[in-house]
Amino acid sequence: MKVLVVNCGSSSLKYQILDMRDETILAKGLVERIGIEGSVLQHEKTGNGKISIEKTMKNHTEAISLVLEVLIDETNGVIKDMSEISAVGHRVLHGGEKFTGSHLITDDVEAGIDECCVLGPLHNPPNLMGIRACKQLMPNTPMVAVFDTAFHQTMPPVSYTYAIPHEYYEKYKVRRYGFHGTSFRYVSQRTLEFLGMKAEGSKLVICHLGNGSSMAAVKDGKCLDTTMGLTPLEGLAMGTRSGDIDPAIMKYVMEKENLNIGEMENILQKKSGVLGISGISSDFRDIENAANAGNERAHLALDVFAHREKKYIGAFAAEMNGLDALVFTAGIGENSASMRKSICENLEYLGIKIDDNKNNIRGKDAVVSADDSKVKVLVIPTNEELMIARDTVRISSSL
Ligand code: AMP
Repeated sequence: MKVLVVNCGSSSLKYQILDMRDETILAKGLVERIGIEGSVLQHEKTGNGKISIEKTMKNHTEAISLVLEVLIDETNGVIKDMSEISAVGHRVLHGGEKFTGSHLITDDVEAGIDECCVLGPLHNPPNLMGIRACKQLMPNTPMVAVFDTAFHQTMPPVSYTYAIPHEYYEKYKVRRYGFHGTSFRYVSQRTLEFLGMKAEGSKLVICHLGNGSSMAAVKDGKCLDTTMGLTPLEGLAMGTRSGDIDPAIMKYVMEKENLNIGEMENILQKKSGVLGISGISSDFRDIENAANAGNERAHLALDVFAHREKKYIGAFAAEMNGLDALVFTAGIGENSASMRKSICENLEYLGIKIDDNKNNIRGKDAVVSADDSKVKVLVIPTNEELMIARDTVRISSSL
């Protein structure tokens, strides 16, 4: 069974085609600059290296159409014709309170995703464009939506309720939703499997540290709390996003700098985080290089980043009344041994003790804590596409 996984942004589209008999990736790629001059498709058939196709793509339908053309191409393709694609899995950012799991995309589900556009205005509209484009080109192929928020729907009211007038929740559904849910679901399942533990009774803290970063407390295999909120702006300091701040900062800076609310939001989304502190870059490799060369603001940016994670590890351990494993994933979590070390420093009282030799790895499943560490510290590379493909097989096979 071959499954196509699609992740649409406003001007981009990532895809993977997997053979689900052995869960291998047959090909993957990225379309960029959809609807903008200079649109380009980068495609990689496993084992064949990357090719690049520059072609005007006015919209997501034209982009998907080119992807399908490449997938059936004699040299770079991996299928003979489109009927070999048994089902398509779509990543959807926001499922609100409506979607607590993955769903076959019916007209009702499509309408539900549309309703959630107010909560995810930057992502849900392009996600829908991708769904509609695929439906148009593959009208008889089952489509499944996998939501970034769904895993977090097990959070209790005490975790998701903001201390603001309750009518805003009742009228507008203002609450914590959380994101990176597909990653947390994959990593928590893989961690339990790797450690040979049962979900029941388990207490995990997972740090998804990438361009966007968030953490989740996962108890009994279910999300108990997470750092992102109504939107992916809350929580950890990120590449360009501020994460938690005193909300009063907004009015203060707006008045001082004569900014409107849109400009202020843009600063918190795109000019803050480690980019804002360091003034150098949002990319951790650049910041680590600058810090190693003695740049003090780069040092401060890395310290603030690690400090915020440490704070949430303590908070989540308190919420769960203990901790069995602390897990690192995504670009920074999988690759930066020095960041993992900084985060774990001075947490011995919690039973967390990293082993410098074991920690000297990147990008593979591994325990990196010392043998006598009460809490296991792990690196588990995330695989959101595989999780989406698994859900897509499960749901489309039951039709
Ligand atoms: P992601 O959003 O998961 O793709 O993660 C992107 C982030 O991972 C960027 O900030 C990268 O700088 C960071 N990253 C990737 N590789 C490394 C590395 N070897 N060391 C430190 N950070 C890395």
